[in-house]
Amino acid sequence: MQLLGFSTQDIIAATDECVMCGLCLSHCPTYSAAKNEAESPRGRIAMVRAIHEDRLQPSQTLLNHLDQCLGCMNCAEACPVQIDYERILDSGRLITNARHTFLYRLKQSLLRATLSRVHVRMMAKFLLRMYRGMKADSLFMKLAARFPYALRLPLLIPGLHEPSFTRNPFTSEMQNLRVALAPSCASDLFSDPCISSAELVLQALGCETVRLPQNLCCGALHQHSGDLRTAGRLIRNFCNAYGSQDFDAVASLATGCAAHISRYPALLNEPCTTWMSRHHVEICVLIARLQMQHKPKFRPLPETVFVHRPCTQKRVSNDPGLTEKLLSPIPGIRFEKFLDDAMCCGAGGMNVFTQAKLADQLIQGKIAELKSSQAGYLVTSNIGCALHFQAQLSKSKSAIKVCHPVQLLAQQLLYSGHA
Ligand code: SF4
Ligand code: SF4
Repeated sequence: MQLLGFSTQDIIAATDECVMCGLCLSHCPTYSAAKNEAESPRGRIAMVRAIHEDRLQPSQTLLNHLDQCLGCMNCAEACPVQIDYERILDSGRLITNARHTFLYRLKQSLLRATLSRVHVRMMAKFLLRMYRGMKADSLFMKLAARFPYALRLPLLIPGLHEPSFTRNPFTSEMQNLRVALAPSCASDLFSDPCISSAELVLQALGCETVRLPQNLCCGALHQHSGDLRTAGRLIRNFCNAYGSQDFDAVASLATGCAAHISRYPALLNEPCTTWMSRHHVEICVLIARLQMQHKPKFRPLPETVFVHRPCTQKRVSNDPGLTEKLLSPIPGIRFEKFLDDAMCCGAGGMNVFTQAKLADQLIQGKIAELKSSQAGYLVTSNIGCALHFQAQLSKSKSAIKVCHPVQLLAQQLLYSGHA
C-alpha cells in the first residue's frame, strides 16, 4: 500500500508554504473561541513542523490543540498560498497518535469501530434503543446523562469535484443512469431516511438506483484521526466494491464522505481510486444537474427553510447557492442563511463525540438565530451536523425539523399517482 505525501520532508515542505500572515485566524472557529495562537491554523502548522523536526515532544497540551481542530478547512480556504492544511493535520495526528493515553485511544477505536463495522453498529443501535426506552427519571438515565454526547444524539434524523462519468449524465440524450448510492456508515446507526429519499428523487429523474447490501466506510474518520493504515484499507475496499460493478455514477449521500472520496487519488495511488474519482459525485451536485434537464414537479411549500452549508460541502462544490438551486423548483419556498454561514457548527469529524463541550459552544450562535427565525426546516447535507443541530434544537424544545435537502425534495415531489 502506498499512502502518498506523508514523508517528513514532504510535510516540512508543506509547512514551509505558511508565511505566517495570520489571514486565516478570523476564519478559524477554535481560534475565535479561545483567542489563543495554539488553537489557530498557524499555531498548529508550527507545532506539526516542530514535531517532525524533533524540536518538540508531543505533550498532553499539544495533543489537545491538535485534537480540537475541527478539520473544517476554513483556514485553507482563506489562505492566500492555499496551504495543504488537511495533509499537515493528518500527518500531525498520525505521528502523535501513539502518545495519547490508552483510554483515549480505546475511546477513539470504539467510536471508529461503531461507525465503520456493521455488526458493531447493529449492537450500538440496539443499546441506544434500550437507553431511549428507559424512563427519563430512572437512576440509569441520571447516570447516563454523564455519558458521552453520543447518547444524547437523536436516533432518527429525519476539490471542486467535477464528475466525469463513463456515460455523461448531463447531456440531453442520456437517460436511465445506473447510480449506486453510497450512504454514510453512520446513516444506518441513526436511521437516516436520506437514502430512500434519494432513491425516490433519482428514480423520478429517470435513473436506476442501486444499494450495495452493506454500507461501506469511506475511511474519513480513520484518516482524520491518524489511523492511515486502516484508512488505506477502507479506501481500497470501498473502491473495489463499487468499481467491480457496472455503475454510471457513485453518489455520496453525506458531504463528509464526499469530501474524503474526492481526495482518494491523492491518498492511495492505485487504479481503483482513479476509477472512483471518475464516477463519484455528491448527491446534491448530481440532482441539481439532472434537474436542469428533467424538470420534475413539486408540491408548494410556503415555509422558510434555513440553509446550512457544511464545511465539507464547500470541498465538493464551489457553488455557495447549490442547496437553494436544488430546492428552488419547490413553489413557495423561502430561504434564510446563517449570518456566520462560513463558520463550522462544531460537529467537524468526530468532534461532536470527542469534544462535546467545544461543539456545544460553537453551535450556540446558530441555534439562537434559528430560534429567533420563522423557519420550519433546517436543511444540511452532513449527517454529523444534522445530528448536532437536532440534539440542540430538541434540548430547547424547538419544532424546527432538521433534514437533508434531498429529503425535503422527496417530501414535496409530485409523481404520477399523486392526487
Ligand atoms: S493564511 Fe495561510 S499562510 Fe497565512 S498564517 Fe494562515 S496558513 Fe499560514
Ligand atoms: S481546520 Fe478549522 S478548526 Fe482547524 S485550524 Fe483550520 S479553521 Fe481552525
